[in-house]
This record gives sequence, structure tokens and C-alpha cells, in this order.
Amino acid sequence: MRVAVVGSGPAGFFTAQHFLKKPDLVATVDLYERLPTPFGLVRFGVAPDHEEIKSVTRQFDKVAARPGFRFFGNVDVGSHVTLDELRRYYHMICYTTGAQTDRQMGIPGEELARSHAATEFVAWYNGHPEYRECQFDLSVERVAVVGVGNVAVDVARILCRTAEELSTTDIADYALAALRRSRIKEVYMLGRRGPAQAAFTNAEVKELGELAGADVRVLEDEIALDPLSRAEVEQSGDRKLQRKLDILRELAARPPEGKPRTLTLRFLTSPVEMVGNEAGQVVGLRAVRNRLVADETGRLRAVPADQFELLPVGLVFRSVGYHGVPLPGLPFDQRHGVVPNERGRVLSNDVPMPGVYVSGWIKRGPTGVIGTNKRDAAETVGAMLEDLALGTVLSPAHPQPEACESFVRQRQPAVVTYAEWERINQLEAAQGESQGRPRVKFTSTKEMLAALHGEARNR
Ligand code: NAP
Repeated sequence: MRVAVVGSGPAGFFTAQHFLKKPDLVATVDLYERLPTPFGLVRFGVAPDHEEIKSVTRQFDKVAARPGFRFFGNVDVGSHVTLDELRRYYHMICYTTGAQTDRQMGIPGEELARSHAATEFVAWYNGHPEYRECQFDLSVERVAVVGVGNVAVDVARILCRTAEELSTTDIADYALAALRRSRIKEVYMLGRRGPAQAAFTNAEVKELGELAGADVRVLEDEIALDPLSRAEVEQSGDRKLQRKLDILRELAARPPEGKPRTLTLRFLTSPVEMVGNEAGQVVGLRAVRNRLVADETGRLRAVPADQFELLPVGLVFRSVGYHGVPLPGLPFDQRHGVVPNERGRVLSNDVPMPGVYVSGWIKRGPTGVIGTNKRDAAETVGAMLEDLALGTVLSPAHPQPEACESFVRQRQPAVVTYAEWERINQLEAAQGESQGRPRVKFTSTKEMLAALHGEARNR
């Protein structure tokens, strides 16, 4: 059975793994990736100072070493090859393309200069080839990060890290140089709801209290629970949530140590407008104080009270969630940013499209941690195997693996194989070793291909 998986982040690798580990199934899996490098958000999303989280790539290397696995890097499904063309070569095609853009807040001034999506900043400091030209003005003294999820925590933490702390990571060289020159002194993280509803996880918020160069400020009155939140916390019996509130109380009780930067965690505060100067740059963020009310489902929602403030920030990162983008040839649910599906089977007008599936964030939305995608991929692969047994998969005209490879190479002669990626990996690691860093990333496709082809020429 021939399977194409489109997108080589965790969802793509876990999908391939579930197939290749099935003892009673002879499957070959081709993993397509539009960049020359695999691993998606493990390479371009996980923060550079969280190296241990990236060790999951060792599992992915094992998947790639299994018989029947091929990597077609530097191939864009949708432009180099289309879904209709893939149907000629595969019984099943599974999209694992993630959520490639961000959500907007929908407030006036969001489009001003120095107002950015956190996801762009993350892709920039992680050396994503399509974001390396982005510019962030780090000469301002005050910054707001809107949202209190783990991405907001990553962004706030990277802005607060000292150059010494960052210099031992695999952060992109240009980002290290820019952050070294940063004049940022104050970072505010803004949560629209209260501490009990904060999306960040405990380890992540605790880590904020351990920064070498930044004091953390939490305001006592903003972490005092309102009666609805208190009842919610008590009824939930959620010990992790209790611990999260304890961590925040500990941070609030701490006197500042006079570190060069201050990171302030705000709650019950929503941006309502970004204020610009004549040059069209952000110079302030108007925010409103919120209170919490229960909606018809019982979920606590923020509603504005009549109390405003102006935060004098010169840079804003909105970190209010990722959002999926439509894929050529597939239906799309714009509101949720996902491809409509039933346990991974793509639905067009509520009817399954034969042989086409989704897994990961493009299937369920941008939630959960890396490991969540393993369970998610198992569900999709389960549906795929059911369809295989029922005979409702595709009947490709050219199922031979060589036929597909020569077709892909005709469309994109510069395909990067897994062996070639491993060579890029070695070059990056060798460069890192000489600087006491895990790796120094290539940040342009051209440089990667030049390094590979230069070596081939010299052999
Ligand atoms: P997230 O966890 O969904 O957090 C989004 C945040 O934005 C929430 O605080 C949300 O508040 C807020 N928000 C949404 N709309 C808003 C608005 N209009 N105004 C103000 N605030 C708004 O998303 P994320 O931080 O992008 O992370 C995505 C996923 O990746 C999560 O599952 C996360 O745990 C995971 N991740 C994990 C790590 C890690 O493990 N270290 C690192 C990065 C990301 P409400 O709750 O009020 O909606």
C-alpha cells in the first residue's frame, strides 16, 4: 500500500510511524515537505532555550530509518505537485500541514508598524527561511505580548533572556545579534481572563521566575480569584491548576531583585486599540479591565468593565493562537481554521473524500503538545486502515515507488532526501560544536542546497 503524507512536523512523522510499525501491513510512506529540513514546529516553533523538547527528533530519525520510508524535502504539494497528481501514485494521502498562520485580535491599529504576530517572531528567531528577512524593532524599551498561552510565554522569555543565555542555544545567528543589541527593559504579558483560565502550563510559568536578567512581577489584585473562578477551581479538583495558582502567588510575593529587565504578567486586561504615531508605528496600547461572567455553557468569559489604561509600549506581539490555511483541492472550515473531517477522513459536504485524510493541527486545530499528535495520528491511521479493509481507498494508475519518484524529480529536481537532510544536520551540528551550541542553523534554502551540492562537487 502506498501512502503520501504531506508535512513533516510531529503529526506527519507520527502518521508515518503508525503505518510503518504495523507488523501485518506492507506499506511504503513518502513524506513530503516544502522545506529542505524536516520536523516542522520542532525545528521552527519550539523555543531555542528548550533544547530537551527537541529530543523527540530521535524518534523521528528511527521512523525515517524504517524500510519503506522516503523523504521528499523541498517539494511543495500544491505547486510542484497537485493533489490530483498524487492520486495517480498513492492509495491514500494524508495532510499534516499544521496551522500555518496566526489569529488576529480585530482591534483598531493592529496593522500599524511594530505590531506583529508572535508566530512570525518565533519563526524568525528559529531561523525559518521564509521569515529571516522579518524586522523587529528591538530599540524600544517597552513591549506587550498579548495572550497568556505557551507561545506568549516563549516570546516573553526570549525577549527577557540575556545574550549569554541565548548564546548557548541554536537560535538563528541574526536573531542572536539583534537580541544582543535589544534595548527592551519592560515586557508585559496580557491575559484577557484571570489566572485560573491562563493557558500556559506550570513548568513554563515557573521558568519565568528563574530568568537571570529579568524580575517577574505579578499583581496581587489581579490574581485574587473572583467568586466564579474560585468555584470553578474548587469544583474541578484540578491539582495542576491549584499548583499554577500557587506559582503565581509565589511570584506575586517576591520582591524585585533589581535585574535589568522586568516581565509583568497582567490578567483581566484586554487590548482595545493600538495607538500609532505620525510614522504609523505603535507607541501605545489602550487596554480595558475585564470582569468574568459565565456564558450559557458555563464557560467563564471576559467582559469589559469601564476602566481603561494606556500602556506606553512601542512593540506589540499578538499571541492569541495559530490558525490553519486552506489547502488547494480540499474543503476548508474558515472559522476554525481546519479541514472538515470525521476521525481524520476529509469531508466534502459531509461526505468522505476517498483516500484523503488529515492529522494534527489541520485536523483538530492548534491545541496540545507534541505528544498529543501521536494519539491524533493513531486515530487517523485507524480510519485509513478501516477504509483499506473496506476497499474505499484510491486505485492509483502508477503505484510503483519509482514512478512517483521520477515524476516528483521532474517537477522539482532539487528534491532533498533524508540522507541529504542528515548531512545538513551534521554540518549544522559541527558548526555548533565549535561555538558550544547544539547547532548553527542554515537559515536559507539556497545555502543548504549550496552546501550539499558543493560537497557533491568536491567528492
Ligand atoms: P493557546 O494555548 O490557545 O493560547 C492562546 C492565548 O490567547 C490564550 O491565553 C487566549 O485566551 C488568548 N486569546 C485568544 N484570543 C484573544 C483575544 N482576542 N484577546 C486576548 N487574548 C486572546 O495558544 P498558543 O500559545 O499559540 O499555543 C498553541 C499550542 O501550542 C498550545 O497547545 C500550547 O500549549 C502549545 N505550546 C506548547 C509549548 C510548550 O509545551 N512549551 C510551547 C509553545 C506552544 P483565552 O483563554 O481567554 O481564549
